[in-house]
Amino acid sequence: MKSQEVRKQFLEFFKSKNHSIVASAPMVLKDDPTLMFTNAGMVPFKEYFLGNATPKNNRLADTQKCLRVSGKHNDLEEVGKDTYHHTMFEMLGNWSFGDYFKEEAIAWAWEFLTEVVKVDKDSIYVSIFEGDESEGLKRDQEAYNIWTKHIDESRIINGNKKDNFWEMGAQGPCGPCSEIHVDIRSAEEKAAVDGKSLVNMDHPLVIEIWNLVFMQYNRLANGSLTKLPNQHVDTGMGFERLCMVLQGVQSNYDTDVFTPLMREVETITSSKCGETEETDIAVRVIADHVRAVSFSIADGQLPSNTGAGYVIRRILRRAIRYGFTFLDTKEPFIYKLVSTLVNQMGDAFPELEAQKNLITNVIREEEASFLRTLDKGLILLDNVIANTKGDTVSGDKAFELYDTYGFPIDLTALILSEKNLKLDEAGFDAALKEQKDRSRAATKVETDDWNILQEDAEEEFVGYDTLEASVKITRYRKTESKKDGELYQLVFNLTPFYPEGGGQVGDKGYLETPSGEVVYIIDTKKENNLIIHLAKNLPRSTEGTFKAVVDVKQRSRTAANHTATHLLHQGLRKILGTHVEQKGSMVHSRNLRFDFSHFSKVTIEELKEVEDFVNARIRENLTLEEQRGIPYDQAIQEGAIALFGEKYGDAVRTIRFGKSMELCGGTHVKNTGEIWHFKITSEGAVASGIRRIEAITSDAAKDYFTSETEAYNQVKATLKGNQDPVKAITSLLDENAALKKQVEALIKEKAQNLSGDLAKEFVDIDGVDFLAKKVDLDAGAIKDLAFKLGENKDNVFLLFGTEQNGKALLSCYISKELVASKNLNAGTVVRELGKHIQGGGGGQPFFATAGGKNPAGIDAAIAEVKNYLV
Ligand code: ATP
Ligand code: MG
Repeated sequence: MKSQEVRKQFLEFFKSKNHSIVASAPMVLKDDPTLMFTNAGMVPFKEYFLGNATPKNNRLADTQKCLRVSGKHNDLEEVGKDTYHHTMFEMLGNWSFGDYFKEEAIAWAWEFLTEVVKVDKDSIYVSIFEGDESEGLKRDQEAYNIWTKHIDESRIINGNKKDNFWEMGAQGPCGPCSEIHVDIRSAEEKAAVDGKSLVNMDHPLVIEIWNLVFMQYNRLANGSLTKLPNQHVDTGMGFERLCMVLQGVQSNYDTDVFTPLMREVETITSSKCGETEETDIAVRVIADHVRAVSFSIADGQLPSNTGAGYVIRRILRRAIRYGFTFLDTKEPFIYKLVSTLVNQMGDAFPELEAQKNLITNVIREEEASFLRTLDKGLILLDNVIANTKGDTVSGDKAFELYDTYGFPIDLTALILSEKNLKLDEAGFDAALKEQKDRSRAATKVETDDWNILQEDAEEEFVGYDTLEASVKITRYRKTESKKDGELYQLVFNLTPFYPEGGGQVGDKGYLETPSGEVVYIIDTKKENNLIIHLAKNLPRSTEGTFKAVVDVKQRSRTAANHTATHLLHQGLRKILGTHVEQKGSMVHSRNLRFDFSHFSKVTIEELKEVEDFVNARIRENLTLEEQRGIPYDQAIQEGAIALFGEKYGDAVRTIRFGKSMELCGGTHVKNTGEIWHFKITSEGAVASGIRRIEAITSDAAKDYFTSETEAYNQVKATLKGNQDPVKAITSLLDENAALKKQVEALIKEKAQNLSGDLAKEFVDIDGVDFLAKKVDLDAGAIKDLAFKLGENKDNVFLLFGTEQNGKALLSCYISKELVASKNLNAGTVVRELGKHIQGGGGGQPFFATAGGKNPAGIDAAIAEVKNYLV
């Protein structure tokens, strides 16, 4: 069964059980402080499990793009070495939110596997939670009893807390789980060793394919468990592993999900799988990693130096290095795999097809730059080796290479072992751990449990229509971190405060009690669908009603910038073309920043046109046309622009100013006239194929023009006339150039005269015309002078010293004939004499110069130079 068909069968099966099929959410997360990437199918549904939102159907099914390369689930080091862990993989899942529970979840999993896709019943084992005394948890007898209706008791295994109790994170919903394992060994192997003894033993052919999680508890901050009000089902089945089982192969890489990529890697790198273990691993690593990186870029996460971007960069570098070391690839090549990947997965994930060019370019650029790093690192490593006494390279040095230059540690180890040297691995690990501990301590946030004042209170956002509201606190909690100290997070029954999101900053403002006490809200954020207001302290009493007031000035400037961002997007698409896509935006009260795909510098003329376009829309006084809560599909049909990598709900809001409509949750002006004016302040590159424009509007634009005018007036005042300043400056520049020419000519003349005088000062040392002297000329004039003195002669040796602007310069000239006959070298002379002036230099054997910072040493150098001839 082809992989496309496997995916389809799964979704159709659960559709027949009344599940709604939903699309995969983005793999890169934006609004979750606890997680960078979706690492399990349940992540996009966290808000439903936490009770902060209600799904449109309490039964859903999907295939979710997952990435397990950081945090609690990190499989990166396994990937390529084994045949069934990937960085990026698809997790097939069916979900019940307070609807069906263990009975149906188990029955349907069994039905799907054994009747729909027909996995051999005798190869299946299942596990149930055996209980845990320290948690006060009993064995999951309920799951056991249900399984016995489907499968022989001898195939049911007890699992411990590590394997069979699933937790979302340190806090939150959790519960026992039941795993389904499949034994895909040959009949002989099965006869020799009982499959049951290999379950959960990391055997590559007895593997877990599906995990059914029964969420029934909530883990509190103090570690204790409470019962959840509703019980949920969360299942996750590895799509690639299921394909392996159904296609009768023994490695995920031998399924049709991977074979096209594997063959392409072999072709491009002229390597062959099956020859050495190292080649096999390298090809698998590359085929795997190109998926992870491509999907991330399609989701809007480019490789970078921080956060999620850095994780992506490291994955790509791992692939480059495997190629570099084991497949001998010294040129970029991974980008060439993108078209194979797009052919393979583009149907199921159209974002890949749509972003193909960008993905290809970004990967190629990253490869080229990392290969340069590797080259540089190799030279640095050679230096380290040369300076190493004994046979062990210190861990600190290796760490420096790794940390400062991005040179991978295993490459260091490999090169050292080829040279029969050792690496102090313990020292390296210690340095790495110290750095990690430091950054962990700096970012660690302690979070208390919520104090719930009102259960099940859904929080309403009223900030599109009003900046002031009468609110109640429904819950609050304390957090503590090194960075922000103690903070309180407050949730209200309704709020006018806009939470940071869609590139727009969160609102600031204050709460006021009837008695006049004021608590400042310093920021507003969103976490799993809750709007959280941050305050440095709590009001004396958290009961009662508060007046919540948003800072008007910040909000109105931010709104002007947000609307201007939409107009800018429109303008860019109109003037540069519709290939322009938003790749990131940041909307502050001060300014706005907009990143977009475009493959060359935006010219000054184009920028001017874009500015004019936006300002024309501002002049037109376009009114905001807004639709709230309309179905996503309808909005798209009406022509609304959606962004890749953004997670949209079932009901969305559309924003229209003039001709262009976009999906947006941000706050906007009611009329474009409020923006007053739009001014671009910079344009540049952020990455290959991605440009960034920064701009200002309203008050900031006014301030900008005021200060520019001020500067211009100062220029005019300095030029003192009432003439045109451009004309004045042009004539000053012309005059300056003419004067420069005159000075140069004068100096030349001076050198000419000097050469006549100096020729008389030559001293004869053993047939050589020798002169060493301090002169007051610049470097160019000295060179002219030396060549003039040496003209038509074959026995001249000169050293000139000069002091210019507090720096010393030595220049040495030796006739070419002397260089040969007396084995002299001007380069050596200045390098050696350079010690007197605390400097160095070099050049040709017949002419060389050295600069230094100690003019006091010039005389000593002049005194010593004779020694080269006697
Ligand atoms: P394993 O023990 O094999 O690492 P897991 O216990 O980490 O699996 P879960 O977190 O329960 O797995 O995820 C559910 C399913 O997702 C697994 O049964 C497996 O089929 C699949 N899966 C998990 N991790 C990976 C991975 N790195 N690559 C591919 N599939 C995976
Ligand atoms: Mg795992």
